[in-house]
Amino acid sequence: MTGVPRWSRILGYRLSMYFNSSADIIIIAIKPAGRDDEVMEANFNDYPLSSELLKAIGLLDFTSPTQVQAQVIPAVLKQRDIIVRSQTGSGKTAAYAIPICELVDWEENKPQALVIAPTRELAIQVKEDIFNIGRFKRLKVSAIYGKAPLMIQIKELKQKTHVVVGTPGRIIDHLERGTFDTSQIKYLVIDEADKMLNMGFIEQIETIITGLPKERVTIVLSATMPKDIILLCEKYMKGPIRVEIEEPDSASHRISQVRYTIDRNDKPNLLRDITIVENPDSCIIFCNTKQTVDQVYQGLQKLKYTCEKIHGGMEQRERLRAMNDFKQGSFRYLVATDVAARGIDIEDISLVINYDLPLECESYIHRIGRTGRKNRPGKAITFVTPYEDKFLAAIHQYIGQEIPLQERPEPETVHHSKPEFEEKTKAAPEMKAAKGAQLSKEIMKIHINAGKKTKMRPVDIVGTLCNINGMTAADIGIINVRDISTFVEILNNKGELVLRELQKTPIKGRLRKVSKADMQI
Ligand code: AMP
Repeated sequence: MTGVPRWSRILGYRLSMYFNSSADIIIIAIKPAGRDDEVMEANFNDYPLSSELLKAIGLLDFTSPTQVQAQVIPAVLKQRDIIVRSQTGSGKTAAYAIPICELVDWEENKPQALVIAPTRELAIQVKEDIFNIGRFKRLKVSAIYGKAPLMIQIKELKQKTHVVVGTPGRIIDHLERGTFDTSQIKYLVIDEADKMLNMGFIEQIETIITGLPKERVTIVLSATMPKDIILLCEKYMKGPIRVEIEEPDSASHRISQVRYTIDRNDKPNLLRDITIVENPDSCIIFCNTKQTVDQVYQGLQKLKYTCEKIHGGMEQRERLRAMNDFKQGSFRYLVATDVAARGIDIEDISLVINYDLPLECESYIHRIGRTGRKNRPGKAITFVTPYEDKFLAAIHQYIGQEIPLQERPEPETVHHSKPEFEEKTKAAPEMKAAKGAQLSKEIMKIHINAGKKTKMRPVDIVGTLCNINGMTAADIGIINVRDISTFVEILNNKGELVLRELQKTPIKGRLRKVSKADMQI
């Protein structure tokens, strides 16, 4: 590597930065700081962020910026283009979401930021993450992705929207229909760019980019940097900063990994024995095909395990429901194809089982990376049939280490482990709070039985609410006017006050039926 190294310390790691001649490219190698290195603790308060954002960040329990955030947040706040090489689990979503939420102008009705994501699941998750971070700035975030009704998305895009997150195909669909106005887009994020390349989306991404205003900040995130992505960046970015974060403690080292050699027909028995011995709190079992997912799922149901399944052949709504239930801890076992392997952020998965050896090396890393998140320890177990030596060797080469071979648990060990396993199976799983739950505590969503058909507009609602004693515009969250009803979020614990007052206060000349609504609607 050429250039002049400069040294800095952050979060207990020594960073070496290499500046090229134009001072644009920064490659960062991170090494644990020596004992004599003083630790410079970064803090979100050090960034020029509004109190609304800092409040949300605090309630989300983000104590200090992750390494990728420490690099990306200041750069994007300064409106610089940036290429980030980092893995999921590094806090990369918040790294771009925080500065974007800070920079977008609340007053502007048209979308100002576009995030392109490879899968629907990731798009939905990114939307939630951005929504949570922009909660108190009252930012409206829309997700547009395939296999979901177009009309609902069209209606959503017609209303005030600050950030749009979408998958390439559906974004283009909206662009062609003229239902997505990109004239005010100032921030473009291409998330998991290498995955988009693998899925054959690169041309679609170029089509989207060419339709956007040229005056914009472009952020590209990718776990790997294949040539095509570099070319794309060169073509559409302006003097990008390049940040490469070599994780000091990579997933494959943090996660304890073992493998078992097993005949195909014997896999169900080994799965039963392993789950009894390991007795995980939560576990994902990965299979290569949806048929195997169905078989394993049925097998586990027969054994009375609390389980769910996810594969590409299921309806989007079913997949989302299963994923959400699993996130919240409603059941312990999720049987899935690689649909669930990438980018999806589920905390506290103690065990990953590769029921089938993945056919692509990258898949192995993504699958095992579902456990051991945020530097917690995790365990990954892989079943390998005697005919899969070649694939196994490729994985060993890819991860740079050999997965230790383990002997199948003795029947005696399984027998001894059974009482504890059965006790856990009988006990109700511990429910985990949804990530944004803390943020929603002081927010109440109310339903008003009047909408577009009665010519209700957000301005009518704001006018009425601001006339209530003790209410200001800052207490009003997202307003969603539908055909015959309107949903309004009331912030800062003022929901009860508004609910009470609106029973006797007319909106647009008439008393309306106003009630408390479900936050999920
Ligand atoms: P990502 O890499 O975007 O998938 O994020 C991984 C997880 O880290 C998500 O659950 C985030 O909510 C969480 N996270 C992001 N930033 C921070 C932070 N600064 N401190 C603690 N957790 C964080």
